[in-house]
Amino acid sequence: MSQNALASSGVAVQAGRRRTFAVISHPDAGKSTMTEALALHARVIGQAGAVHGKGDRKGVVSDWMAMEQQRGISITSAALQFSYGDTVINLLDTPGHADFSEDTYRVLTAVDSAVMLLDAAKGLEPQTLKLFEVCRQRSIPVMTFINKWDRPGHDALALMDEIEQRIGLKPTPLTWPVGIAGHFQGVIDRRTGVFTRMQRSPGGADLAIEEEMSSEEAAERYGADWVTANEELELLAMTEADYDEKEFLAAKSTPVLFGAAVANLGVRQLLNVLLELAPPPSARPTVTGADRPVDSSFSGFVFKMQANMNRTHRDQVAFVRVCSGRFERGMIVTHAGTGRPFTTKYAQQIFGQGRDTIDEAYPGDVIGLVNATALGIGDTLYAGEPVQYPALPSFPPEHFAVVSTSDTSAFKRFRRGIEQLDGEGVVQVLRSEQRGDQSPVLAAVGPMQFEVATYRLETEFGVKVQLNHLPYEVAARTDAAGREILRTESNVEVMTRVRDDTLLALFPHKWRMRTVAGRHPELLLEE
Ligand code: GDP
Repeated sequence: MSQNALASSGVAVQAGRRRTFAVISHPDAGKSTMTEALALHARVIGQAGAVHGKGDRKGVVSDWMAMEQQRGISITSAALQFSYGDTVINLLDTPGHADFSEDTYRVLTAVDSAVMLLDAAKGLEPQTLKLFEVCRQRSIPVMTFINKWDRPGHDALALMDEIEQRIGLKPTPLTWPVGIAGHFQGVIDRRTGVFTRMQRSPGGADLAIEEEMSSEEAAERYGADWVTANEELELLAMTEADYDEKEFLAAKSTPVLFGAAVANLGVRQLLNVLLELAPPPSARPTVTGADRPVDSSFSGFVFKMQANMNRTHRDQVAFVRVCSGRFERGMIVTHAGTGRPFTTKYAQQIFGQGRDTIDEAYPGDVIGLVNATALGIGDTLYAGEPVQYPALPSFPPEHFAVVSTSDTSAFKRFRRGIEQLDGEGVVQVLRSEQRGDQSPVLAAVGPMQFEVATYRLETEFGVKVQLNHLPYEVAARTDAAGREILRTESNVEVMTRVRDDTLLALFPHKWRMRTVAGRHPELLLEE
């Protein structure tokens, strides 16, 4: 084998070892707890709580944005990497709560699969639904973990029904709980029929205690719980809810597991499913329509920008998902947009407050490039064979505000700042005919994006701005004909998204949008 062929087979092997995924969930479903439990299980951290437990967050001394400190929240999202046996797991953070923003959606452009984490007592919740919608649009395979089974919650079959009815994803449980929510005894593996008793370890900070048990013993010990679980399994067998690899990878069905992250119950099973079933990185479509194989030379794209992590000097970190080849710190890569070289001396692995310098990375990994002021969201970087990945999609904004400055002498800087923030994807900028160029409209998925934008306009561009919130909550794409017709509707405004010249119709709420769409279905186009 030639040197090159050897190197590329090494890359293919490394890519095959990787699993890059994100957890999609609603706040409080247990994402942080699960992250810790997964990392604990993989034994990268000695004790649960060391990753980014909320309890610890407040005490961490941070040099990140002042705003972040004041509010005690994390504005960043990046990747936690850990090994599990021979597998390298990259868990990308999807910020929720007040941090929910367009970045949260963008993370899903950089993963190969997702774990949908549901609270057994709540089922599908709004933020989960929004994130799932992005997975659906991108055909990302989704595994489901029903969490908090140690506490009273919904009926297991009812939860399966809810998933199938509300989001049209066929649940194919891999394990089935013995004992209703709040009475968790363990799970039956539907593929092998083996029952594993699960118990929280004393204190709960350690791995769960698991023990395989014969059906006879389980029947005797768990009586009615055992009978019910087996009846439910028979019902499932009749609905053909069996795991099917093709359907899962096509994002049509979802393998389901049950557990309780807080007690590490079912966490081992989830890790094993990630290993066995979740797809490794694969060839990625490029703008030419051809796919870039994972073993070609280095390439990646920026899915997130983080500004001002270091207050002492203006700093930008670009988070890059590696798509192909081997990345080596210090290598000179090409910025596909400008053709300019970009040096990667300061490549880092960043998660939460921690930063480590990294020396190499492979497809599926995330690298943070420091000093990346020349880069923007969606930009492609490559070495060797040129490549360009498609621009990242914009996601439907839900918050709108007119931004203006009363300082006329600062208007040039104001314009430059707005352009910069738009280019970086901090907010979407809309042009409103009615309001004119002096008063652009900022649009965001989460209101925190406004805070970041105004903070940066003030600190980096020296412009004090006013925000005037607009009473709209939904936006839908339309076209020029649509705009003319919508002029006759009250409480609807059409604006142009500067980034891609898309016309967006803004509505005060989804009911109003539905009424208008009911009258003129041709006006609103799919995003
Ligand atoms: P996040 O907002 O999704 O990151 O949720 P957290 O991980 O912070 O969890 C929210 C709350 O639910 C915390 O009080 C956790 O201790 C609790 N929690 C998480 N997982 C479980 C679980 O499996 N069982 C129970 N009973 N509580 C849980």
